Amino acid sequence: MTPSPLRDLPAVPKLLDHPALADFTACEIVTHEVRDVLAGWRERLLSGRAPEPPTFDALAHEVAARLVAKARPSLRPVINATGIVLHTNLGRAPLAESAADAARAAALGYLNLELDLSTGKRSSRQDAIRAGVCHVTGAAAATVVNNCAAATILVLRTLAAGREVIVSRGQLVEIGGGFRIPDILAVSGATLREVGTTNITRVADYAAAITPATALLMRVHASNFRIRGFTKSASLAELVALGKAHEIPVIDDVGSGMALDLAPFGLPGEPSVREGLSAGADLVIFSGDKLLGGPQCGLVAGRRDLVERLERDPLMRAFRCDKMTLAALEATLRLYRDPAQARRELPVLRMLTTPLAELRGRAELLRDALHGVAAEVTVRDDTAYVGGGSLPDIALPTVVVAVKPHAMSEGELATALRTGDPAVLARVQAGEVLLDPRAVFDRDFDALVKVLRAALV
Ligand SMILES: *Cc1c(COP(=O)(O)O)cnc(C)c1O
Repeated sequence: MTPSPLRDLPAVPKLLDHPALADFTACEIVTHEVRDVLAGWRERLLSGRAPEPPTFDALAHEVAARLVAKARPSLRPVINATGIVLHTNLGRAPLAESAADAARAAALGYLNLELDLSTGKRSSRQDAIRAGVCHVTGAAAATVVNNCAAATILVLRTLAAGREVIVSRGQLVEIGGGFRIPDILAVSGATLREVGTTNITRVADYAAAITPATALLMRVHASNFRIRGFTKSASLAELVALGKAHEIPVIDDVGSGMALDLAPFGLPGEPSVREGLSAGADLVIFSGDKLLGGPQCGLVAGRRDLVERLERDPLMRAFRCDKMTLAALEATLRLYRDPAQARRELPVLRMLTTPLAELRGRAELLRDALHGVAAEVTVRDDTAYVGGGSLPDIALPTVVVAVKPHAMSEGELATALRTGDPAVLARVQAGEVLLDPRAVFDRDFDALVKVLRAALV
């Protein structure tokens, strides 16, 4: 009889005593991992997929590697060298210091989330942010929910369930991540009444579609694409005039939520929340974590009576924000009291308005820090986009460090960077990896150099 290869596998306690595992305090997880590794080998040996057992040392190192991997959180910091400031896959807007501090304090302790400290009576968790949103947008009233998608569902359900909402065919968009305007309308219980064509919708098309069943006129900002050429859409002012004549509220879903005029910095074309409201929209809906630069949330600003109806809807309870989000949002909005301070302290605004000369200086510093690596490293002008999927039409002139590795493909380098510690995300393009300094924090510069050097040996 041939001896079983299983006999060569060590017993659990023996493996636990291996020096490679000495750094791990003996606990259930370590024992569990040891058992799991041994079970894996037993199975492979019995099925013949492995001809012979690993050495004692190899086994111990396999367990140690698994324990190290498991100790790392799966959500880890990433250095964003893509140049895309609002990257949905990378968590969109990084918070301002003061907003992060407020979220941290809220997280670690108690706060008057729904308590009026002067009277000792119950209050609304919306009270903390109302004044700030109204100040930033010029609205009479405002409320906040988990994200812009939730805000849209809430508005449509509360104000239009069982009735019709008129939307231009040119605005029946998919924002990304499965957010399609027709689907959102269906979920809300309202009926979509499409008007116009993909490229042309006139205000007369809306007017012709109005019936006693019409609950709302809605304009949706086509955040992630543009139709060029022979095109026309009704202006918000025209929709407002039509809505007023028929006493039908007008909803403006602007999505990106720009609160400061960034046109002087070469960022025109994004509708601002304030513009929507001053053009007469009854409610404006926007995201908190796009151009506003705050935490993930969806804001609704506008007419007080409509906002009050939203807040009475049972969905409000399902969509409500948590204490950390509200604390961060209040601190973010507070920065807008002084536009210059907002532009300095909100990372999104600071990154989007960084002068080209400063970007060039940072790119040159990075190039110099990479001196001697196994790659051709050059600095050159390029174009970056504000947001992947949210605002891709806004192109910004930028400066990149182009890295063309000697001994590996650009894809291999990108993978090495992505799996580095910390992870580095870059753009990959025709034989090169492009590193854009725009969305890289100064505090991450040394770590970026370290990861690049480690990858380019
Ligand atoms: C981004 C966007 C949304 C979705 O916002 P979330 O906050 O991600 O839910 C909705 N509408 C428009 C026009 C957008 O640009």
